[in-house]
Amino acid sequence: MSVNMPIRVLLVEDEAGDAQLVKMDLQKAQGETFTVAWVESLGAMQHCLQSSTFDVLLLDLSLPDSDGLETIHKARQLVVDIPIIVLTGRCDTDFSLKALEAGAADYVMKGNFGYDGLARAIRYALFRAELEARNNLLVAALETAANGIMITDKSAAITWVNSAFTRLTGYSAEEAIGHKPTVLLNSGVQDESFYQVMWDNIMQGKHWRGELINKRKNGSFYHKELSIAPVKNTAGNITHFIGIKDDITECKRLEEQLQKLANTDPLTHLFNRRVFLEKLAQEIARLARFTTQSAALLMIDLDHFKRVNDT
Ligand SMILES: [Mg+2]
Repeated sequence: MSVNMPIRVLLVEDEAGDAQLVKMDLQKAQGETFTVAWVESLGAMQHCLQSSTFDVLLLDLSLPDSDGLETIHKARQLVVDIPIIVLTGRCDTDFSLKALEAGAADYVMKGNFGYDGLARAIRYALFRAELEARNNLLVAALETAANGIMITDKSAAITWVNSAFTRLTGYSAEEAIGHKPTVLLNSGVQDESFYQVMWDNIMQGKHWRGELINKRKNGSFYHKELSIAPVKNTAGNITHFIGIKDDITECKRLEEQLQKLANTDPLTHLFNRRVFLEKLAQEIARLARFTTQSAALLMIDLDHFKRVNDT
């Protein structure tokens, strides 16, 4: 929201005196300008929303057509994307907390807004809504990523994973959260020292990148390329780690297949001429260093191999 634009407030209040107090309070506010549209019921609010848009909703809970927490639920259905601040006459913490649970961003006591209280509540609610919207956008971006992404706390316990992580490992977010990836996904292929090097690196605040084999929920193994970045707070202390993984199982399989094709005869799976010449060159080079040694090269011919070839 631009700093210079007035904040558009929709006030739903059936007591004219209370509505007047709200308007007067917002007129006195320093810093921002508020425009207030006032209606007296949820029905009137719905009507009003058809022709105008607002930044924030100030909501009295006792209205001619709705009462109590139900008013918040109904209002929430009418305005999904703007913060709702409840105007309450009740000095009841329990009830106020329930109002927050029902979807209110905040609550203020009627007739007791205090200095700048109502304007501040609106300002904070809008600020939080903006942060939340940005947060949702970032989460959506991470969710669409093809890479498996996990966030862990400083002790390496998982606190968040994206959908690609679930696709890759078979573990849902609920199943993964709270567990350490080194336990949850451990295939037993990497030894203690492998993880120790990784841990030493990231605890020093360095990025780590490497290939490893992990185990899925169904017990199958997969190759992954993993990079881990430590996240620090403003004081420079590590608070979280972000791990981004790429499933390279298919790449590994193709690599092995290519290697095999390059080195072996497809029919017999024996080493081909290329490997033979390579090994021979290596042996000759080795022998050249040991002048006292000699070697023999044995050539064995298979009779009628053509028949094997033909069948
Ligand atoms: Mg009322």
